[in-house]
Amino acid sequence: MRQRELPRTFRVKSFGCQMNVYDGERMAELLADKGIAPALEGEDAELVVLNTCHIREKAAEKVYSDIGRLVKAGGDHPPMIAVAGCVAQAEGEEIMARAPAVGMVVGPQAYHRLPEMIDRAVRGEGATDTDMPADAKFAALPARRRVAPSAFLTVQEGCDKFCTYCVVPYTRGAEISRPAADLLAEAERLVTAGAREITLLGQNVNAWSGEDPKGRPIGLDGLIRAIAKLPDLKRIRYTTSHPADVTDGLIAAHGEIAKLMPYLHLPVQSGSDRVLKAMNRSHSAESYLRTLERFREARPDIALSGDFIVGFPGESEAEFAQTLQLVEAVGYAHAFSFKYSARPGTPAAAMDGQVPAEVMDDRLQRLQAALGRHQLAFNRASVGKTCAVLIERKGKKPGQWLGKSPWLQSVHIEGEAAIGDLLEVELAAAGPNSLAGELRVRAAA
Ligand code: SAM
Ligand code: SF4
Repeated sequence: MRQRELPRTFRVKSFGCQMNVYDGERMAELLADKGIAPALEGEDAELVVLNTCHIREKAAEKVYSDIGRLVKAGGDHPPMIAVAGCVAQAEGEEIMARAPAVGMVVGPQAYHRLPEMIDRAVRGEGATDTDMPADAKFAALPARRRVAPSAFLTVQEGCDKFCTYCVVPYTRGAEISRPAADLLAEAERLVTAGAREITLLGQNVNAWSGEDPKGRPIGLDGLIRAIAKLPDLKRIRYTTSHPADVTDGLIAAHGEIAKLMPYLHLPVQSGSDRVLKAMNRSHSAESYLRTLERFREARPDIALSGDFIVGFPGESEAEFAQTLQLVEAVGYAHAFSFKYSARPGTPAAAMDGQVPAEVMDDRLQRLQAALGRHQLAFNRASVGKTCAVLIERKGKKPGQWLGKSPWLQSVHIEGEAAIGDLLEVELAAAGPNSLAGELRVRAAA
């Protein structure tokens, strides 16, 4: 690698899950602390961090096409490129062998060391760091400064569940929970920096465990209760939950804490018990439905969301039909659905009965049609309700603003508003992906 000067501008491009978005924000703060400025809109950055996702093959391959594009666009002055995130963790130094333009490879548990790695790259030394220290990273990150009205806070990382299709336990490591006191302090700083809503993040966020100030054990509901005491924080959300880690306390919290939004993302993956078992999911279709029923009893208007995989090895048409039945039984407000993607090193990749691509395509289409129908029905049923909308950004048209309802629907409004406002809005019309609202009065804080 050749020597070069310290880059003056950077861009962080995050792919995949919200935890990557959080990591991307923290890396941007580290780079700004090092005196590197964020590149302006449309400007080529001198340092590009590709914060990658390894969950499906398509997501993982994106990094290589992006590197090719950056090198071509840079001509004689290509940017310094760092690969971060789960592809970095999974592929390590192989990335530099396959893409020599990459100067740094840094895993999701090691990105606090990015500034030192940049110094090494400036000296012409390629640097790879995919260590997985349990908790060093968060302590080494700089303080939060300016954040959007809706901010992320990673409370839990890693996964011990080992679903047979999934790379997360290998790329993100074992489950760890950040200490409650650190999280409260970070939540406070986020609020001071402008957050009015905080979404608590974790691969299995409801596996979070910690202690209250008296040393008594608490779960995610205890953490939510503590954070809800911050007076200027108006809304709390959490994602992604695992059915096996749902507790009575978490369900009760939805009925008791006004700041906890009526929304639950609880992935199920399949409606077939045989497939669920082969996936090493610890729930059955029936136990999952029972869990959702209990959330609905605690908070009748709760919006339900989930994740689905179609075409898991051996999935028959009859088993897929059970997934469709489950979708009808739940009536999701929103959901994510994916074609199964064989990931190297996972048990499912070696299973018999890999499902042909055209069968997966057909199943995904049918599933998404059903989910889309339910999403539209949920949005239509919201019309006529008056609710608080948190304004997150300007809309495309002049005078238009875009925000989120308590049920995480995108809502457009027109009129006097500003980013960060919490406004009382009557939901007036519904489409499949958003609603139009009419401004009533500024919501009481
Ligand atoms: N921990 C969460 C849970 O199990 O509910 C999900 C986290 S995972 C990052 C997000 C989603 O990606 C999963 O719920 C699953 O639907 C999907 N996913 C994971 N591995 C996959 C694979 N190999 N092929 C297709 N989809 C996959
Ligand atoms: Fe992956 Fe399963 Fe862990 Fe979710 S619970 S991150 S799907 S292994």
